[in-house]
Amino acid sequence: MSSLRPSPIASTVDFDRDGVQHGFLRLPYSRDDSAWGSVMIPICVIRNGEGPAALLTGGNHGDEYEGPLALYDLARTLDPKHVSGSVIIVPAMNYPAFRAGTRTSPIDKGNMNRSFPGRPDGTVTEKIADYFQRELLPRADIVFDFHSGGRTLDFVPFCAAHTLPDKALEQKAFEAVAAFSAPFSMRMIEIDAVGMYDTAAEEMGKVFVSTELGGGGTSRAQTVRIARRGILNVLRYTGIVAGPVEKSPTQWLDMPSGDCFSFAEDDGMIETMIDLGEFVEEGAVLARIHSTGRTGIAPQEIRAKMSGMLAARHFPGLVKAGDCAAVVAVHV
Ligand SMILES: [Zn+2]
Repeated sequence: MSSLRPSPIASTVDFDRDGVQHGFLRLPYSRDDSAWGSVMIPICVIRNGEGPAALLTGGNHGDEYEGPLALYDLARTLDPKHVSGSVIIVPAMNYPAFRAGTRTSPIDKGNMNRSFPGRPDGTVTEKIADYFQRELLPRADIVFDFHSGGRTLDFVPFCAAHTLPDKALEQKAFEAVAAFSAPFSMRMIEIDAVGMYDTAAEEMGKVFVSTELGGGGTSRAQTVRIARRGILNVLRYTGIVAGPVEKSPTQWLDMPSGDCFSFAEDDGMIETMIDLGEFVEEGAVLARIHSTGRTGIAPQEIRAKMSGMLAARHFPGLVKAGDCAAVVAVHV
């Protein structure tokens, strides 16, 4: 790591100063419409003395809105008098993607959550990842990263952490998930963990918690309420914000293997055969893909590889081969 050059990103906030600071991570990005221009990523630091630090992020994918809605709100309203330690808020982590309303960056097509550990001399997305890897993650004791399904998936609202080889770290993460008190709480495995922010944080020994709170490229009143209440609960759980955790019932789910995921093998029009939150038996038809090029062709059936609850589904009406069609989770 020491052979890497310094990050080109300059922060306008001082992470060691008490009080509230609203500023930017300024990333030089010279281009046709802005010579010597920069990407200005909003950041807020709320600090009150020594103590644990939470790093809160939304907009890791640019078309997911519960996180940014909750975090711009928290940055505006959290009073440092109620804080012990630090809260670092980056409500729109992949800011170019967030501005474009797209999952990946319009500048370099970078998927932030596949770009870690990043590079100080890489693309814009890689430079942001590198800054998180080397400057922000090391400051944090707990890392909370909001996601939802974006434009192409829709989820039942859940808070999640990974099953980890380090059981003490796993335990802390699941305690934070329980404190968040979403209607569902998920034990996750990753099917594609390389390059993820999650993996970067966990490999550094940080407590890492995430969500999937809906999707479809928008937000819902219910999912935004869950996000706002949940993140305050997590801060209370850590002791950074004073006050008791406001717990509500949650149903624990598990995604124990790759059999949870079903992928489309054909292009076409997707018909989901059960709705989110409904149950399916192994072998039952989860979704059908209808060929649209001509009439008279039987739909392709996607069958559940395990019994469980439909936790996520493809959102747009049209699907392409390779798209994630459905995710089944099991009740714990
Ligand atoms: Zn996401």
